[in-house]
Amino acid sequence: MAAAADSGAARHHLRAAELAHFDSHFAWRLVREQVAFGQRPAGSPQLRALAVKLKALLPHGKFEAVPNQKGVRNVIGTIPGRRPGIVVGAHYDTLATPKGFVGANNGAAGTAIVVEIARALAAANLSRTGREVRFVLFDGEEPPSGLPEQSGDFYDSGLRGSRAYVARHPGRTARMILLDYVGNKGLQLPREGSSTESLWSRLRASAGAVGTSSYFPDTTETAIIDDHTPFLRSGVRAVDLIDWSYPGHSLEDRLRLLSRKSLDAVGRTVIELIRRIR
Ligand SMILES: [Zn+2]
Repeated sequence: MAAAADSGAARHHLRAAELAHFDSHFAWRLVREQVAFGQRPAGSPQLRALAVKLKALLPHGKFEAVPNQKGVRNVIGTIPGRRPGIVVGAHYDTLATPKGFVGANNGAAGTAIVVEIARALAAANLSRTGREVRFVLFDGEEPPSGLPEQSGDFYDSGLRGSRAYVARHPGRTARMILLDYVGNKGLQLPREGSSTESLWSRLRASAGAVGTSSYFPDTTETAIIDDHTPFLRSGVRAVDLIDWSYPGHSLEDRLRLLSRKSLDAVGRTVIELIRRIR
């Protein structure tokens, strides 16, 4: 009985996810809107205003404060389901320096895709039919003082929102999918070196199924400390989608380097991957 009920639920889960339509035009508009807020460092009035808008767009949207970080908060949406569940995440803050940095790809693009995946899955009535899916927009990924990313202590100075999330929700997450530089023209997303190989393989299979394989070459690149790292360190299987060839820490990171087609490819692939995680 239990097994039969489970497989019925699983089939419903599949159908619901198949109906989910990723609207890349919506995602593109949301990238533009974020960039229009200007530079958005953690705790800034601009970012806090943006967060109110993002929260309203997420299913069951809510804030979670990051302890000991004034004004810094994650924005979280939820589609209920079995736990441990799936986290799809991106950071929504931008670098504090250089002055004028607007972070079109780092990380407005990933944020927009996470929000649109949430909307698409919620509209397809995925709820209570599979694993819980949480959509987490991390605040404070970038270090507060504009310390260079990837410096030795980046794990402790940056990743403030993701470390806080993992500490607050032990055991709640089985898989984590992180979107970092995912919106640029000519997007190439090889496996980031620390990403879990089994989950990466499943992602590539998902890309094959939706016709986006050319974006996900079967090669491995540099390992990067990013918002997936606290999840990995707590035993969660995780992948970080990031085109490390992109100038994500320069003033060049603007809309003109982005492509709606890249948003579409990543959004559709991740929806397919969520569909395949049982
Ligand atoms: Zn980033």
